[in-house]
Amino acid sequence: MRVGCPKEIKNHEYRVGLTPGAVREYVAHGHEVIIQSGAGTGIGADDGAYQAAGARVVKTAEEVFQQSDMIVKVKEPQPSEWAQLREGQLLYTYLHLAPDPEQTKGLLASGVTAIAYETVTDDRGGLPLLAPMSEVAGRLAIQAGATALQKANGGRGLLLGGVPGVLPGKVTIIGGGVVGINSAMMAVGLGADVVIIDRSIPRLRQLDELFRGRIHTRFSTIEALEEEVFSADVVVGAVLIPGAAAPKLVTREMLSGMKKGAVVVDVAIDQGGCFETSHPTTHSEPTYEIDGIIHYCVANMPGAVPVTSAHALNNATLHYGLQLADRGVKALIDNPHLRNGLNVHKGRITNRPVAEALGLDM
Ligand code: NAD
Repeated sequence: MRVGCPKEIKNHEYRVGLTPGAVREYVAHGHEVIIQSGAGTGIGADDGAYQAAGARVVKTAEEVFQQSDMIVKVKEPQPSEWAQLREGQLLYTYLHLAPDPEQTKGLLASGVTAIAYETVTDDRGGLPLLAPMSEVAGRLAIQAGATALQKANGGRGLLLGGVPGVLPGKVTIIGGGVVGINSAMMAVGLGADVVIIDRSIPRLRQLDELFRGRIHTRFSTIEALEEEVFSADVVVGAVLIPGAAAPKLVTREMLSGMKKGAVVVDVAIDQGGCFETSHPTTHSEPTYEIDGIIHYCVANMPGAVPVTSAHALNNATLHYGLQLADRGVKALIDNPHLRNGLNVHKGRITNRPVAEALGLDM
């Protein structure tokens, strides 16, 4: 199959659908890989690195779209990209169609067969192509929180790890899923005191076993939230209720009970956020202050570290991508997890939650 990868064109997107390492794997499977010149610039991979990996480098995105049987990307296609997709072509990328009727219309009109990373599943009931970005965001949350805590950045002026003779800071993590665990690992690594709050007792049990006394866990109640938020230096919002907006667990009123200069990092902001006072921010202006509390609410946190994020994404997408390239649409028949990723086929929506969210027929 001819597998193509254009340069990402969404604002501030520096990741790339195929790293040179992934290209080598497709080539080793007997596929031809076509890369747009400059596609890997954001991760420090130049055209030479792609050529060395066995790719053919072409100048324009048009050439990639015209010459490829399968397009591998990172972000949802933009209007100029929908126009170039066609029936019989496979598109393998993040789509997030539910809140995006315009893109959905564009994909339906193109006739393309589109597999969305975010709805591919695995044997353990997880979303394996979303998890790596939650890992990145979870780890980054502590870096972001620690930085915002510095006095010059508006924070309390506290070092999370403390020093000998001075107590460390306290990190409260609300939601002990993929983001929460990764935040906890980083916070523990820095030497902070860490509490994780979750509403799932089996999950709290797992966390307790995993961290072996190095963190504390609490069941999610209003009382527990108040106590752990009021005493925290950094609060990480990491809850997820699949398919729903994040619950507003920390109200504006609660901010007045917090320490002045404490920091909230609302990772769940991409689902609306779990702090009542959150609104999405960008990497160029990541924080703002309300009632003396510094808020960090960047909706695409992994974008800050495209080198790590692109490699983590490629590690996760490669396995399924090779199946698609090797067997084409037959791979969707053979693998139910990959089939769960199918969102659009020949002008029809093929994913029930997406169809329901958009009010369209399947
Ligand atoms: P996950 O499903 O692995 O974990 C979510 C956890 O929240 C679960 O353990 C669940 O039990 C818990 N939870 C749900 N309701 C709760 C409540 N009321 N109180 C306490 N805990 C509760 O999800 P995840 O992969 O860790 O993702 C967490 C959030 O981070 C999601 O909204 C996701 O979209 C977001 N995210 C954001 C970025 C970003 O760049 N901002 C990047 C990746 C993920």
